[in-house]
Amino acid sequence: MALIIDGKKISSEIKDELKAKVSMLTRKGTRITLAVVQVGNDPASSVYVGNKKKACEYIGIESQAYELPEETTEEELVSLVEKLNNEESVNGILVQLPLPAHMNEDIIINTISPAKDVDGFHPQSVGALSIGQKGFVSCTPAGVIQLLKRSNISMEGKECVIIGRSNIVGKPMALLMLRENATVTICHSRTKNLKEVAKRADILIVAIGKPYFVTKDYVKEGAIVIDVGIHRNENGKLCGDVDYDDVLGIVSAITPVPGGVGPMTIAMLMSNCVDAAL
Ligand code: NAD
Repeated sequence: MALIIDGKKISSEIKDELKAKVSMLTRKGTRITLAVVQVGNDPASSVYVGNKKKACEYIGIESQAYELPEETTEEELVSLVEKLNNEESVNGILVQLPLPAHMNEDIIINTISPAKDVDGFHPQSVGALSIGQKGFVSCTPAGVIQLLKRSNISMEGKECVIIGRSNIVGKPMALLMLRENATVTICHSRTKNLKEVAKRADILIVAIGKPYFVTKDYVKEGAIVIDVGIHRNENGKLCGDVDYDDVLGIVSAITPVPGGVGPMTIAMLMSNCVDAAL
């Protein structure tokens, strides 16, 4: 029987640990504040922002919401971020992506002070991760590492194949798996013989952005499968990049969607906020 890795339970444990830490910090007089900036009112972004606010409330982190109209200019957003960089009481800054098309996301991300970059997207944070220095790590891949560690799955010496090379999931995921001493392969849209390469994996991490893409043809018997994807299928139900029912019979462990990687992202964001105040 496959182990179903319970991201809801593990993320709750992390949030409870953080809540205890924050309460101790509060007693010592340290307040933690996260500034969340949203431009426009994309419904998915509003849901994410709402969930982040709720998590802050639960843990005891103060959240400041900046809701800017769609027509905000890039210069106006840059000045807000610069203002927040200089505000001593603000520990973390999060600009909800995607931004409207008239803005250059790279310019905005580069404006966030690396000391407050709780999303871990700033080039300095990514560079620090790549050379093993201290810095904020992108929340979703950091959440995957916690899922594995807290399920007592060792990564050392394992063949780890990651499908997807995005800046926010695939690439940092590969660097984190290297940090855990896995042997890492990154696959992407130009990879040849994807099924054969994926089948080498002891740990297969899928962040491809295509519903039900990975079937048992991609999975070695006994492999551990981590599904980062989130989609709504034609019946409006949440599903992942992995065809869960198809692979369940051959894997040794798997994350479900929903209830796998998803809840970990916010838990790791909260963890980064606490670190930003220390
Ligand atoms: P992305 O679209 O930026 O990247 C997808 C990657 O998959 C690309 O690197 C591309 O090269 C690769 N790819 C595409 N088609 C391929 C193919 N046929 N064969 C091999 N590789 C292929 O996506 P992303 O932002 O990395 O997100 C991936 C998935 O994870 C999405 O479903 C997204 O919704 C989800 N996601 C979930 C969370 C979470 O909190 N759980 C966070 C971020 C992203």
